[in-house]
Amino acid sequence: MLQTDQLLAPHTTIQLGGPARHFAACRTLEEVRYALRWATAQKLPVQVLGGGSNVLFDDEGFAGLVLKVELFGLRFAEQEGAVLVAAAAGQSWDGLVAECVRRGLTGIECLAGIPGLVGATPIQNVGAYGQEVKDTIAAVHGLDRGTLEPVVWTNAQCGFAYRQSRFKGVDKDRYLITEVCYRLEPEGVPKIRYPELRRHLGEGAELGQGQAALAAVREAVLQLRRGKSMVYNPQDPDARSVGSFFLNPLLGEGELVAFRDRLGGLQPPLFPAPEGTKVPAAWLVEQSGFPKGFRRGGAGISGKHTLALVNCGGTTRQLLELAEEIRAGVRARFGITLELEPVVVPWFPTS
Ligand SMILES: Cc1cc2nc3c(=O)[nH]c(=O)nc-3n(C[C@H](O)[C@H](O)[C@H](O)COP(=O)(O)OP(=O)(O)OC[C@H]3O[C@@H](n4cnc5c(N)ncnc54)[C@H](O)[C@@H]3O)c2cc1C
Repeated sequence: MLQTDQLLAPHTTIQLGGPARHFAACRTLEEVRYALRWATAQKLPVQVLGGGSNVLFDDEGFAGLVLKVELFGLRFAEQEGAVLVAAAAGQSWDGLVAECVRRGLTGIECLAGIPGLVGATPIQNVGAYGQEVKDTIAAVHGLDRGTLEPVVWTNAQCGFAYRQSRFKGVDKDRYLITEVCYRLEPEGVPKIRYPELRRHLGEGAELGQGQAALAAVREAVLQLRRGKSMVYNPQDPDARSVGSFFLNPLLGEGELVAFRDRLGGLQPPLFPAPEGTKVPAAWLVEQSGFPKGFRRGGAGISGKHTLALVNCGGTTRQLLELAEEIRAGVRARFGITLELEPVVVPWFPTS
């Protein structure tokens, strides 16, 4: 189970990162506990890894243990008119969406095509096309990495917000998620909230309900995502990314006033959200002089999606330098500091 000097780049969608000094792919809870205990005894830091689609490893690699979660298992149970889906952390997320759509279960169909594994979905409250996992998560099961004791959180205890949760915030790197339980609606009607998706499906089109309707929504989402290289495909250079590199900033009232003062006639799309006003990071990046297809050495911006920084045969350092250049450009033009979405390991000071 324990290996040494495993190159991390092939374990990531962006294909970057030097070797992990130690690497353990764990298929059972016993293996997970063994690996964590071993790392504690060796006084080594541990980095948990899922599908590697939201993580950026250093060119030097990781001087500790990378623990890859390969826990498998899927259970479906009816409860009070809903269906509870308990998925082990190592299950493919896109595979789970496909299976739930096949069974006619509503709630995650718009999240088709997002790479990675089930266990990472609560970490940043994965979302796309008008759905977020926080809307369907009933419970998250995990292990305390220190005590190795099992822990269960209800949805309300997870601290979900836009691309955020306690697991990415106050409890970062404290727990390993072992299973996520989603509450889905049987034979439900797909909920189309996202204007682009509604247009793609045909404005006013009658989808009906049940398996066929959900399958149509899933296929539409996949088509939209393929058009932006937002479905992982190793043959597509624009998909050698971690998805969106920057979060959409949420501005409070004062920040919004300051932002408007800098617009000089420009009219950005603004979206009211519970936490503030959301400004599309893609708009900010483009208006600051970084168009799609922009290249800087071995790093660049996808030709199809302004927020996806892509590895053009370069290094993590080059990618992070490009990210810093973009952040500085946006800060200078609009006074807004963009936050990174992916997890950078080890932590890279970005401001
Ligand atoms: C082409 C592309 C498109 C994308 N589109 C979207 C999108 O539309 N919406 C969206 O939200 N994201 C998107 N992403 C980002 C990414 O796919 C998601 O964040 C995904 O949930 C990451 O899963 P992963 O298994 O690959 O996690 P990893 O990248 O392996 O890990 C990410 C973080 O989660 C932690 N982690 C992973 N598994 C566990 C576990 N079991 N227990 C504890 N911690 C864990 C890791 O330590 C790390 O900190 C996209 C990425 C790509 C490459």
